[in-house]
Amino acid sequence: MEIRLASKIGFCYGVERAYEKALELAKKNKNVYIYGDLVHNNSVKDELVSKNINFFYSLNDLPENSKEAICIIRAHGIPKKDKNFLKNNFKSVVDLTCPIVEKVFNYAYNMQKKGFFIVAYGKKDHAEMIGLKGNIDEKKIEILKNAKSFKYNKLCIITQTTMDYNNFKDFASQIAKLSEYNELVVKDTICYETKIREKEAKDIAIWSEFVIIIGGKHSSNTRKLYEISKKYNNNSIHIDSVKELLYIDFSRIKKIGILTGTSTPNKSIKEVIEFLRRGF
Ligand code: SF4
Repeated sequence: MEIRLASKIGFCYGVERAYEKALELAKKNKNVYIYGDLVHNNSVKDELVSKNINFFYSLNDLPENSKEAICIIRAHGIPKKDKNFLKNNFKSVVDLTCPIVEKVFNYAYNMQKKGFFIVAYGKKDHAEMIGLKGNIDEKKIEILKNAKSFKYNKLCIITQTTMDYNNFKDFASQIAKLSEYNELVVKDTICYETKIREKEAKDIAIWSEFVIIIGGKHSSNTRKLYEISKKYNNNSIHIDSVKELLYIDFSRIKKIGILTGTSTPNKSIKEVIEFLRRGF
């Protein structure tokens, strides 16, 4: 059996950076909290909890000992006012917003300063988009997934870092056709990690007889890889853990492709490869 593993596997740059820093902080400090999930992956969460890192999910429900604790802001970023609130309520705040996400926030902020209205292709309720809106002028941005017409002198179209490039291109060209403006800037702000993984998902799905996509069931980027793979190869399966492979008959399969989301730990990938290599 031949196994083809995607070249980009495991945590992406932003998640790896936040994960390592969280572990480092937990080694030196007693009370470390993360606001929200670091990644949508249960085994990663369990591991962090086992290293004495705790989680809280609402600003209305802060840990009782917050004044003696460190609060970590995860890679997606958060609105400025929430960050200030955390700063006032924790001993210290460590902002681990991914630098690529931060760059998009800054870009949108600067474009607004130049008089542009921002149209962001993304999911309104996604943490990164909530963070974007909360770091710029909320009245001069609209986040949406379906193109519509706008009427502004200066219009700037950007995208959530994890969206599909071809869909973004269609979205931007539809808005360009439908809208009235004097100046239009279209800026592709999709993260390179997303682009590479999605391109490979297609290539690997075409090459393979069977594709295994490893990652949390709530991880939207893993689900997206699964959808891409499924489009080109009906024998695609999205698993959270190696246990889900136990009852699949791989004996006739000669080419297996493996893809992983940006929040999938290396441990889960290793377990799957070892399982496949052991043979049947
Ligand atoms: S997917 Fe890209 S932008 Fe998002 S956290 Fe990872 S490296 Fe940063």
